[in-house]
Amino acid sequence: PVRVRFAPSPTGQLHVGGARTALFNWLHARKHNGVFMLRIEDTDQSRSTREHEESLLQDLRWLGLDWDYGPEQATTDSSCSEELKRIGPLRQSERGFIYQNYVKKLYSQGFVYPCFCTEEELERQRVEMEALGQAPKYAGTCRHLSSAEVEKLMASGTPHVFRFKVPKHTKVVLHDIVRGDVSWDVEATFGDFIVMRSNGVPVYNFCVAIDDALMGISTVIRAEEHLTNTVRQILVLHALGFPLPSYAHCSLILGEDRTKLSKRHGATSVNQFRAEGYLPEALINYLALLGWHDGTEQEFYSREELTKAFSLSRLSKAPAIFDIGKLRWMNARYMRSLSNERLRTIISERLKSANLLYPHVDSNDLLIDMIAEVTRDSVELASDYEYQVSKLFSYPLEETVQSGEAVELVEKGGGFYELSQVIIRSFQEGTFPSGEHDDHRTLWKEWIKRVSKETKRKGKHLFHPVRLALTGKMSGPDVGDVIRILALAKGKSDKLVSLEERIR
Ligand code: GLU
Repeated sequence: PVRVRFAPSPTGQLHVGGARTALFNWLHARKHNGVFMLRIEDTDQSRSTREHEESLLQDLRWLGLDWDYGPEQATTDSSCSEELKRIGPLRQSERGFIYQNYVKKLYSQGFVYPCFCTEEELERQRVEMEALGQAPKYAGTCRHLSSAEVEKLMASGTPHVFRFKVPKHTKVVLHDIVRGDVSWDVEATFGDFIVMRSNGVPVYNFCVAIDDALMGISTVIRAEEHLTNTVRQILVLHALGFPLPSYAHCSLILGEDRTKLSKRHGATSVNQFRAEGYLPEALINYLALLGWHDGTEQEFYSREELTKAFSLSRLSKAPAIFDIGKLRWMNARYMRSLSNERLRTIISERLKSANLLYPHVDSNDLLIDMIAEVTRDSVELASDYEYQVSKLFSYPLEETVQSGEAVELVEKGGGFYELSQVIIRSFQEGTFPSGEHDDHRTLWKEWIKRVSKETKRKGKHLFHPVRLALTGKMSGPDVGDVIRILALAKGKSDKLVSLEERIR
């Protein structure tokens, strides 16, 4: 049976790399009706926080990557399943007793030994090795202590860590699903590594090996940078007599300049993408293509299609390039195919959180529909709504004039103020089309005809000044539509420069 896990350390935000790892695990599990676990690797207590864990969970939920077992589930009360009781807590900081038992076991079998070397001693070794031009690793001093010496030091309470005895003349060969066979001469690669610190806290590689085994993980899918951890984990698994999972190490994600993706490249965390207005389905689709393709030209996949098409055997060895332009383009496509209902929810949430609509005002479907309609062709990200609507709501006449766009109309006797007077009068007389009216378009046409007669203007000599008088701008969506939006938004936003104020 397929059992996989995503095992983030809660030391920061969920980044695209982590999200992709989570996605590949999730797809593999769902495709094979397997189990997807979320395990929190928080043994590094100085860097792990509950806030980070919360935000990881929130981001995964937003992406729709649901897990079967996770850290938020109780594992001891009577209501929880036998399976969960057996797995135990999914937060490593709550599994200390498990790791301690395995250290004891390995100690009694001679696979680990206590090391009493002080920091100063270790530092001395490091300096010595560096001077000899060797990569620093533990010299193995305490490996050779007699049992009498160990007993004495233990009895006197000397602080000690436990180290794993890295076997001599041993090659570890990993049959990686992505990278093929990779082998290491372990003795040459690293020294006897710590499995438990002097304060009794176990070390990352030790916990991972034990948890993967106890949780029955069938395949470990994670990033390439964990390859050397894998060697240590395999040694621990061998020592404990556990079967090995299979491994798939995904290629790195690089920025467009071909260096490792980092903050320098712009947004990299899932919650930044959410804030910038990307849709989870677009992000998922894009992430799936970072290091995986099904051999066809297809680029757009629904979640169901992805689940069906995904296969570990089609993960690519070559690094993937994160192309933000392509993600944006994909997002724009997804934005255009949203259902009306989703679109309304998104627009109203975004406008409320940007303070453009009062949070307590019920969503006004007509207003939201109008906004959706006039912005339809110019929206790539959900955040474009805030930008475009705040542009509609403000009245940047000054700005437009200063930019030189409207100078002719406003300053050189273009009749702008005269026309504005007509509009004001018309508006005050109540003949101006009001927002809620069903047949806004007809009313608007009748109104503009009247204004045309009254001012003896036609075509652009009429429409340019009208647009400028009402919107403060020389270009933008259909003026009639804009007026309707402004009328509808009246009393729903404090950012809205009211119609009366615009033409006063
Ligand atoms: N906790 C590790 C990390 O956040 C992942 C370890 C693993 O997947 O085995 O990078």
